[in-house]
Parts: sequence; C-alpha cells; structure tokens
Amino acid sequence: MQLTVSRDAENLQKALLELAQAGRRVALVPTMGALHAGHMSLIRLGLELADAVVVSIFVNPKQFGPNEDFARYPRMLEADLRKVEEAGAAVAYAPSVEDLYPQGFDSSVSAGELGRILEGASRPGHFDGVATVVTKLLLRTLPHIAIFGEKDYQQLCVIRRVVADLDIPVEIIGAPTLRAPDGLAMSSRNGYLSSEERQLAPKLYETLTHVGSAISKNELPVAKALAAGVAQLTSLGYKVDYLELRDEDSLQPIERFKDSARLLVAAKLGNTRLIDNIVILSS
Ligand code: AMP
Repeated sequence: MQLTVSRDAENLQKALLELAQAGRRVALVPTMGALHAGHMSLIRLGLELADAVVVSIFVNPKQFGPNEDFARYPRMLEADLRKVEEAGAAVAYAPSVEDLYPQGFDSSVSAGELGRILEGASRPGHFDGVATVVTKLLLRTLPHIAIFGEKDYQQLCVIRRVVADLDIPVEIIGAPTLRAPDGLAMSSRNGYLSSEERQLAPKLYETLTHVGSAISKNELPVAKALAAGVAQLTSLGYKVDYLELRDEDSLQPIERFKDSARLLVAAKLGNTRLIDNIVILSS
C-alpha cells in the first residue's frame, strides 16, 4: 500500500474517507517521531489487529514543561516517513502546531489524579498535554483501535482512563516494550546519552529485574527491596526520581505484593531522564 502523507486535518479526512469507503479497520499509532524499532513494533501490531495503520507524528508542545527538551527534541520527518512507508502504514499524519492548535485554541483535557502522581509529580501538566493531544488525535481519526507502548506505562493508564471517562469510541491496546539486546528500553531520547552513559543505561532495567525478582519471590519486604534498588542505582551515578511498586490499573502504591503489580522507575543519567517499568507476577 502506498503511503499517504497528510499535513493537515482536511487532508487527513480525505485519506480516512478512502479507508472507510474501502471498509478498512483502522489502527492509530500516535508518536512524536524520531522513529525507532519500538515504534515499528507498534505499527506491526497495528497491521496484525487492523487492515490499515495511521501513524501520527507530532512533537506536542503542550506535554513539555518550560525547562524540558521541546526545542531540542529530535525531528527527522523525511527519515520517519520512509520508515513508516516501509513498515506498511497507510497514512502518516504529520500536522503543524497550528493545525492541531489553531489561534484561539484554549481548552484542555485533564488527566485527573492519575496525571498528578509519579511522572506527573515530576512533570506538572505533562499528562494534561498528553490527554489533550491524544483526545484530539482520536477524535480526528476515529480509529477502531489505538496502540500505545507499555514503555510509557502511566501514559497508557491515563489514556485508558480518559477514553473510558469521555466515552471516546475506540479500543486502546497496550504493546510490550521493545528493548535493545542489552535490555535498555528503546527511546527517542536515548540519543541524548553520551557513550559512557549509554554503557550504564542498561543497569536501569537490570535493577528493575533484580528488585522485581526479590519482590515476586518474597525475599524482601517491598519497602526494603525498593530501597536496595534506589541505593544500587545511586551508587552507579543515577539520580533516582522514583522507584515504586504500584497497582497495575490505579497506579496506587502497593505495600504488600500479592499477585501482580507494576514496578516503575524514573532516573537521570547526566542530563537525560530515563523511564522504564516491568510487570511483577508472583512466582
Ligand atoms: P513517543 O514517540 O516517544 O511519544 O512514543 C510513541 C509511542 O511509542 C508511545 O505509545 C510509546 O509508549 C511507544 N514506545 C516508545 N518506545 C517504545 C518501546 N521501546 N517499545 C514499545 N513502544 C514504545
């Protein structure tokens, strides 16, 4: 299938109308571009679960704080479009800021309490920005399904909540985190790491798996296992923002592990903030 590139809402509607007239089941994969193998795995999943994939590429200013990396976030549209085409997507929607937020735009979608904890505590307003742009992308596209990576686990939870609360008629699918062979979760921000930092970066996942195993085997009380993980990362030179065991849906703290939970971490290596998470199941 040849890729249709849409740069504005009107053009997108034309491309979507063609897909609808052909009776295609559509999957939306929202991204901020600088596409890597993790994004490609979402497109592949979309092609398994639907007939046509729409990939949006938009660096959303509303989800960046004033001191964050909006200006230097990697942008490489031509290369991204080639990757999206090779992966077999039907439409790439790469709007301008004005197309999504025209003059006078003044509303926002609140991500509620889920948006204020963990990442939201460190990045105030981030999830409201995510909820706003994802709501707009879903309503503009009205796909049958939309796919989000578990790499950004809290984002996935926020989007599930918003879609349920606002009756947005779409099925949200979570996709597993794709990792480099050494365990580091693929991310567009990994390119910020110096070569020394890149060597240390897999320790984040390694620590998650050690802490997770201690918790699932009940080798240590949860608080002790988490403290040991923070100490380990700190000794390696990380600045740990949080390492927390949380309920998989509500993201509320879990003090005693039972059957399943999420272990989530955010930590800085130099100037680069890395996040990761794993599911913990009782063993
Ligand atoms: P981003 O471009 O960083 O906003 O990510 C776009 C989508 O790709 C989000 O749903 C992310 O969770 C997902 N994603 C990012 N990295 C990975 C990864 N390593 N594996 C799977 N999905 C990912």
